[in-house]
Amino acid sequence: MASPEIRVFNTLQQAKVPLQPVTPGKVGIYVCGPTVYSFVHIGNARTFTSFDTVVRYLRYRGFEVKYVRNYTDVDDKIIKAAKETGEDAIALAARFVREFEADAKQLRLLPPDVSPKVSETIPEIVAIIEKLVARNAAYVSGGDVYFEVRKYPEYLKLSKRNLDDLIAGAGERELVGEQKRDPLDFALWKAAKPGEPSWPSPWGAGRPGWHIECSAMSAKYLGETFDLHGGGLDLIFPHHENEIAQSEAASGKTLCNCWMHGGFLDLEGAKMSKSLGNVVRLRDALEKVDAEALRYFFLSTHYRQQLAFTDKSLADAEARMGYFYETLKKVDERIAGKDFGTGPLHGDPQRFLTEFDEQVSDDFNFPGGLGALSGLFGEFNALTDPKSPVKDKAMVGRTLVALREVARKIAAALGLFETDAAEWLLRHRDRLVIARGIDAKKVQEMVAARDAARAAKNYAESDRIRAEAKAMGVELMDSPTGTTWKIAA
Ligand SMILES: [Zn+2]
Repeated sequence: MASPEIRVFNTLQQAKVPLQPVTPGKVGIYVCGPTVYSFVHIGNARTFTSFDTVVRYLRYRGFEVKYVRNYTDVDDKIIKAAKETGEDAIALAARFVREFEADAKQLRLLPPDVSPKVSETIPEIVAIIEKLVARNAAYVSGGDVYFEVRKYPEYLKLSKRNLDDLIAGAGERELVGEQKRDPLDFALWKAAKPGEPSWPSPWGAGRPGWHIECSAMSAKYLGETFDLHGGGLDLIFPHHENEIAQSEAASGKTLCNCWMHGGFLDLEGAKMSKSLGNVVRLRDALEKVDAEALRYFFLSTHYRQQLAFTDKSLADAEARMGYFYETLKKVDERIAGKDFGTGPLHGDPQRFLTEFDEQVSDDFNFPGGLGALSGLFGEFNALTDPKSPVKDKAMVGRTLVALREVARKIAAALGLFETDAAEWLLRHRDRLVIARGIDAKKVQEMVAARDAARAAKNYAESDRIRAEAKAMGVELMDSPTGTTWKIAA
């Protein structure tokens, strides 16, 4: 059966549109990356996880994807942070690039194909500004260069705002200290100030404004028109609006065919923002929750929707991952190294893959995709249940093998289950032992005492120990190699 067409919600059209790449079979995607002046927070981590999974899914569907995600390493915030620490601004940015990469690796974010930096793209940035000045879309004022928004008739086509309203709202405040013709005109190039990083240009030494970097980088690596552009909702205006204006005024072509925006993240009921001071760093979140569980948590809400981030929702996500990994461990033990021969299967294992594709091809509905995965795990458990109605053990074995392969494909498309199940479950247990204040040494002693009681056929004592463990929130389990234990659900 043919895979369903991929449809994507395009912010420009405010509707889902079919993905029709400029070059059939290939997708160019640009995602606005972090401004590297501090550690990445969980709101940005969610956005990057969404687009990472978009890239994974497109590759799983057979597209040759070129994924570009930049680093903003020249910026007011970086200069300010560097002044506070006494570091060189470029060096501080380079340090936070390394920190970001360490965090991204934990969250299993694929390294993009290209991760350009502003500091390494200055010639291209200068070239595009020169073009805008030559085309009369930008003007030089002192040592600054500004984009003149009134010269670009389609300005605000992404955010659907009204130029006159915005100008009336901005008033004189926006003009203070800058030599602009209109309050909404924005800087493409800023004249050098003492102590700030700067580069030579036709307008004197200076540095680029924020927005122009993405226009220069996307054109350099993806061409003047490409397929998908992603970022958080907060980037629609002014950042993406300005990217469109600069790029389209310079090239005369459509910058990007489809604009994707990820929703906000709520922290215990309040919008997370640096200005409110309620920001959680990804690194700190990963102290509390397993990285794959956090990834699962991010994917369990649609990427465009608001996501509520609470300690309880994280714990629930990790418990759910525990269920998945326990099931995988059980299934793998059942099928490892065995040959179940050829013959009919129970049901059609491929139906879960069909459902997965139907869900995810509809605007990257990852929660729907996880629903298909849940159905598959339900089937795993039904078939491995001692009371399973399917009595033909070879048929069960063959079906489990086929389902396991489907689970592997879905997991790879989502970036989940990349850890060995036994290893994951042990780490999860250690985490719960700490979180619940369980005396692990005492549990080990009880396990040994129970093994001894069972060896002596003292079943009254072994039952008593099991009940005592249960009262501590610990479940003792019998296995051919002796007693094992886990934290009770
Ligand atoms: Zn950008």
